[in-house]
Amino acid sequence: MRLQLEFKGVPDMKVILVIGDGISDRPTRVLNGKTPLQVAETPSMDTVARRGICGVMDPISPGIPPGSDMAHLALLGYDPIQTYTGRGAFEALGVGLEVRESDVSFRCNFATVNEDLHIMDRRAGRIRGSGEELAKALNGIKLERFPEVNVIVKHSVEHRLALILRGPHLSRMVSDSDPSEENLPIQTVKALDTSSEASRTACIVNEVSKQFHEILTNHPISVERRANGLPPANAVLFRGAGTLPQVKPVTERYGIQALIVAAGAMYRGVCKSVGFDVIDVPGATGTVETDTVAKAKAAVENLPGYDYILIHVKGADNASHDGNAEQKVRMIEKIDALIKHLLDNVDLESVFIALTADHTTSLDLRKHVGDPVPLAIMGPGVRADSVEKYSEIDCAQGGLGRIRGVDLTPILMDLAGNSKTFGA
Ligand code: ZN
Ligand code: ZN
Repeated sequence: MRLQLEFKGVPDMKVILVIGDGISDRPTRVLNGKTPLQVAETPSMDTVARRGICGVMDPISPGIPPGSDMAHLALLGYDPIQTYTGRGAFEALGVGLEVRESDVSFRCNFATVNEDLHIMDRRAGRIRGSGEELAKALNGIKLERFPEVNVIVKHSVEHRLALILRGPHLSRMVSDSDPSEENLPIQTVKALDTSSEASRTACIVNEVSKQFHEILTNHPISVERRANGLPPANAVLFRGAGTLPQVKPVTERYGIQALIVAAGAMYRGVCKSVGFDVIDVPGATGTVETDTVAKAKAAVENLPGYDYILIHVKGADNASHDGNAEQKVRMIEKIDALIKHLLDNVDLESVFIALTADHTTSLDLRKHVGDPVPLAIMGPGVRADSVEKYSEIDCAQGGLGRIRGVDLTPILMDLAGNSKTFGA
């Protein structure tokens, strides 16, 4: 039997959850056998750990390296194995497109291909500045063989874009055209199950891909880039076909108003798909340059209207994927400044502050790994334990022990006075 938790709606207190994307790590030789969290100067994170209850958390399950999208679904209380329906819809929602239940969405890249459709540059030199105009040229194209299908395209940042196929009999069960490596040809999209919808959708994507190539090859921006010796964006790579997850949004499930403060399209999309409001914060970029204190300020300003605010900060994950220990440490210290602003500006008698990561990203391996992440929760009435510092190693000694990601939001809701007794 699965536990069907009930929430009373409108908690007595508020919760701010800070997710440092990939801040968690393994000890590394580069940092003399310590983790970046152990090395960074983090007085405010340490305050949350010292005054709070700590633990470690398996975002999905022990030993499973999570993707950020699945991990975020779990951290918001949704069983990701049951609810995950691909990444595409999150990207489309995140760039501000309206996504309908039957839409199949993709995350896409502009790329540079040669005459044989071999990929020379998966990011088309990152095409700063011209992505929006190129995306406009692709939006709304008509497909001769599938006139009933609408093709909706919107530019995200740099070489990234989101695409929605809207029409009858579509399926998300199709493969990627992106081989994820260069010097390989664009892959023919194939059905991943035996349904007629999947094979139809695969045909549609291949048709769209072909037309996009023609339009982009002849576009004045491509002509000009070629003339200047720059890689033209002459193809679009498709991946992560997805539909909206079929879930009860947080507004109904917990009876709360929730807000996400994040720059990255995917994170905004995941939260939107489960009923969060989204705001733009000037200076928040989703990169290591991001203004973390501006995010904290936005959260504090919006606190009166919300019960649950998630602040997502991306940069440390990027630094790990680049194997850049110094930058990761610096990014963690920037998140510490965010926490300081919260500690100085919210009423700590009525607001819980929780700090965690969505997964462990190993600097040494430059990828997500399955180790649990540290978690600390501070607020009125928490069973503060003896942990003094916020790190993977210290938090493992804390009073929360080891929990699963899917339990985090129910724990926070219960602490904030938003749960009903299970049973009589
Ligand atoms: Zn992540
Ligand atoms: Zn990552």
